Amino acid sequence: MNFTGSNVLVTGASRGIGAQIAKTLAGYGLKVWINYRSGAEAAQKIQEEIEASGGKAAIIKADVTNEEEFVAAIKTIVDADGELSYLVNNAGITKDKLALRMSVEDFNDVISANLTSTFIGCKASLKFMGKKRFGSIVNISSIVGEMGNPGQTNYAASKGGVNAMTKAFAKEAAARGIRYNAVTPGFIQTDMTHELKDEVKAEYEKNIPLSRFGNPSEIADAVAFLLSDHSSYITGEILKVNGGLYV
Ligand code: NAP
Repeated sequence: MNFTGSNVLVTGASRGIGAQIAKTLAGYGLKVWINYRSGAEAAQKIQEEIEASGGKAAIIKADVTNEEEFVAAIKTIVDADGELSYLVNNAGITKDKLALRMSVEDFNDVISANLTSTFIGCKASLKFMGKKRFGSIVNISSIVGEMGNPGQTNYAASKGGVNAMTKAFAKEAAARGIRYNAVTPGFIQTDMTHELKDEVKAEYEKNIPLSRFGNPSEIADAVAFLLSDHSSYITGEILKVNGGLYV
């Protein structure tokens, strides 16, 4: 795959989907900035893995819910490399509970981690990438933002917001040469879904036309395409990667 730009920031890349996105993009020759909040050792392991396979990687700590920290991280990258070409807003959390038992605090925590952090990243990239009039951003959303899910009113609202916001950013930024797209994964094998009971997993699998959970690499491939030159005429798109669960 071809990439005009040379570096990328992946938020929440210490594990799960983010870690795989970092490895996949490094495999295409991009210098990858691995963001983490608390998993310093895990982030270092990902960096070592990338470097051992001949890729380029650096680590950047920031809580992406904190505007000052997140913007400072982007500025550090631009100061070090002279630019930021690509951003993947991947960091996210769940705090599941049926709505009647969900506190406003649990609702707001998930909105802040998934939606507000993505707004901060999209806004900052508009500023820094706008100067070069080049950039591509992929927001990691979720199938739950498209179809809802019991126990996840906070998560569904946050990801539905990411989808709508991605389209609005795409329209605002197109004239500056910056593209914004989102990927909506279905159920993917990571720590986030590891907690599900076997019978719940089996029930979900019954409803997935491809009859299995996805792998992080299947999300990373879609992200690589949307960042790359091969999707140069695509912006404001919400790409489903869900095994056919929601079409
Ligand atoms: P995961 O295994 O739980 O990993 C989440 C990552 O996000 C971790 O690296 C975590 O870092 C980081 N993170 C969380 N809050 C952060 C913050 N405030 N600042 C910086 N980093 C933060 O989750 P995952 O399954 O890979 O999910 C990745 C993305 O895909 C999320 O946006 C999720 O909503 C989305 N998604 C996942 C699935 C799925 O089935 N797994 C499906 C649809 C969408 P720490 O370790 O430091 O907390």
